[in-house]
Amino acid sequence: MSQPTAPAAFLPFTRPHIDAATIAEVGRVLASGWITSGPRVQAFEQQLSALFGGRPVRAFSNGTATMEVALRIAGVGPGDEVITTAITWVATANVIGAVGARAVLVDIDPRTRNISLDAVEAAITPRTKALMPVYLSGLPVDMDRLYDIARQHGLRVIEDAAQAIDSRWANGQGNQRIGSFGDLVSFSFQANKNITCAEGGCLVMNTPDEAELAERLRLQGVVRHGADGMDVVTPGGKFNLTDINAAIGLGQLPLLPQITARRQVLAQAYFDAAARHGLAALGIELPLPSNTTGAITNWHMFQVVLPSDRLNGGRAAVMDALKAAGIGTGVHYPALHLFTHYRALGWREGMLPHSERIGRGILTLPLFVDLADADPDRVCRELATVCKTLLK
Ligand SMILES: *Cc1c(COP(=O)(O)O)cnc(C)c1O
Repeated sequence: MSQPTAPAAFLPFTRPHIDAATIAEVGRVLASGWITSGPRVQAFEQQLSALFGGRPVRAFSNGTATMEVALRIAGVGPGDEVITTAITWVATANVIGAVGARAVLVDIDPRTRNISLDAVEAAITPRTKALMPVYLSGLPVDMDRLYDIARQHGLRVIEDAAQAIDSRWANGQGNQRIGSFGDLVSFSFQANKNITCAEGGCLVMNTPDEAELAERLRLQGVVRHGADGMDVVTPGGKFNLTDINAAIGLGQLPLLPQITARRQVLAQAYFDAAARHGLAALGIELPLPSNTTGAITNWHMFQVVLPSDRLNGGRAAVMDALKAAGIGTGVHYPALHLFTHYRALGWREGMLPHSERIGRGILTLPLFVDLADADPDRVCRELATVCKTLLK
């Protein structure tokens, strides 16, 4: 009798990669006597600024706080409208509400799964103050057209680039890193992102004045005068990053080129495996290959769209079957306008048809730097088997 083969290890959809030197450095911060915001945060901000071509950068406790501060720097408040997408982490829309403005949700382009810039133009009103595009899975929108629209209508842009560290925009002027140009650009360093602080975020700004305002808004609005004087002109939040978290980020930043390159290799392995296992013939939609339109993704996620309406049990049945086969998957994201809070604000099924269909079918497959070269083949093989069984 043959030995039963050991089951393959469970594949989560993502897992952070923290090296031993970073773990040791976190220990040194904890032992140093200074564990909250201090020299590590400043060093992290300086290195990020260098990454983004010398633009001012400030760090925050998370990407959500970063976006809220960005909206406040842009002067967005009650009576204002901000145009964004329904296929995003709900933080994007929540922060617009948090500053008292109205999130105007428009439909996506089903090919890129990003906000449709045609829909953005159609939604602009005299109350529109800002545009808030999201680069889902790290894929930028058409950056030239985005900023043309903003300039034409005198709008601020707050880029939710939470997933887009090291993504690029290639046009006639060359290949520019997201964050190194544009208006206010917000990143997240939450545990699942391509580089992480466990929790954290940063905002890239235009001027030293904006950076000074960001510092105040992240710490209660406090302005210090001399050794013992302080004042508050505009109250702020408690959004500062700690040196413990910054030490993790400082350990990750030098790995960024390798992280992006490894993700590129794994994404290509997914495209090859998807072709081998006939995913398209089963009605499974693949992501747009990188640089089809000048948008170069960092492959933050590799996402397929399932033909969920033609599968017995829908996407949930696929996820359960893959889990039983040792494969973790995720949903990023259900269309947020169908959440109870947003329905209460008047949003309904049928208003954003592409977002609704993608929101029901989108599935994030495992992709992280320590994935083995053979894993994409295993994932696509199991996905094909499961979908063949469940197709009506
Ligand atoms: C992660 C993420 C955020 C929020 O970042 P946090 O650091 O978790 O607060 C916002 N928008 C998108 C698209 C994200 O992926």
